Amino acid sequence: MKIHEYQAKQILAKYGVAVPRGEVANTLEEASTVARKLLAEGATGVVVKAQIHAGGRGKGGGVKVARNREDAEMHAKNILGMTLVTHQTGPTGQKVQRLLIEETASIDRELYLGIVLDRATGKLVFMASQAGGMEIEEVAAKTPEAIFKEAIDPAIGFGGWQARKLAFALGLKPTQINAAVAFFQSLYKAFTDTDASLVEINPFITTTDDKLFALDAKITFDDNALFRHADIKALRDVAEEDPLEVEASKYALNYIKLDGSIACMVNGAGLAMATMDIIQYAGGSPANFLDVGGGATQEQIEHAFEILLSDANVKAIFINIFGGILRVDRLATGVVAAARKLSVKVPIVLRLEGTNVEEGRQILKESGLNFQIGATMKEAADLAVAAAKVGA
Ligand code: GDP
Ligand code: MN
Repeated sequence: MKIHEYQAKQILAKYGVAVPRGEVANTLEEASTVARKLLAEGATGVVVKAQIHAGGRGKGGGVKVARNREDAEMHAKNILGMTLVTHQTGPTGQKVQRLLIEETASIDRELYLGIVLDRATGKLVFMASQAGGMEIEEVAAKTPEAIFKEAIDPAIGFGGWQARKLAFALGLKPTQINAAVAFFQSLYKAFTDTDASLVEINPFITTTDDKLFALDAKITFDDNALFRHADIKALRDVAEEDPLEVEASKYALNYIKLDGSIACMVNGAGLAMATMDIIQYAGGSPANFLDVGGGATQEQIEHAFEILLSDANVKAIFINIFGGILRVDRLATGVVAAARKLSVKVPIVLRLEGTNVEEGRQILKESGLNFQIGATMKEAADLAVAAAKVGA
């Protein structure tokens, strides 16, 4: 689960990570009030920041510095409600519904900090780089040696010596080292306590008066651990998520929107990946994949159909099921019921194997509805690609 920058900063502040003073604003009035308050309290300027679940806001025009309240109001007016397009939002962009108004910092250096799980070693890695404020993916691709990494032994935790090593690698001044070590350790504690899957501070800044701040903050949480963090779960902002993905999550369906024309209903993530591959191999492209999981009920299958059909790009539906716990006959009954109820117009191609497959095929045949059945995955994929071309 993703959260907004302002929420991430609130969490980090609880762990003693230094963040600039600021508050979220949902309206222009609130933005004006926060700006006035910060300026009255002695801020030399305020920065108006779009709150969306995507990075690259600065380049897209979603981060503006103001020296006085009038300018802050002008920036707030321009940014609130705008559709912000960044390299992470995709071409359709994301509507800005919230702002963070913060006191400005007098930046000396922009650095980078990140904690992620390295799946190859199964360890967390604390990363630091002097190349802050820019896209870290680009730094990693062009100058990987500019990123310093410390692998963290899960039994020992993040050692003070590792924090010091990173602080020196960043070229911090002797007067900044101790504060940086405490900063890094607080970040690590915030990561592990909240069951995060990513914590990224870009930029991590030093100021002209030698202070350290998280000027930006991104935290992503491990969904599988959210059950033990009710407070974090409450931070979810569904307005930032794809509406169909939100709808799917209500029924415990795993739906991912893509940009092709063939909708895919599968059971299991591995089969989903194989299905994406074989569709591409057959010359088509998937519109999404929807994983109904191991034990889908008829009700879930109906909801799955509704979700797949609400995407206007869908020209054909490819159902690829290997019945294990989910019996094929039950799936077939669900598909027939849903197709009738929703009077599905787009062609449906199925590839079915596993428990009660013969009964399942019989149910489809007897339904009198127009299903196409492929004997193998490749054959079914070819049928789906051909059907999608006709549909389009
Ligand atoms: P992102 O583009 O979505 O990653 O948003 P950031 O929060 O990282 O902001 C982008 C850039 O805006 C930063 O790298 C800074 O250069 C600049 N910026 C953000 N806050 C301030 C501030 O308080 N003062 C100044 N001078 N620049 C800022
Ligand atoms: Mn940033």
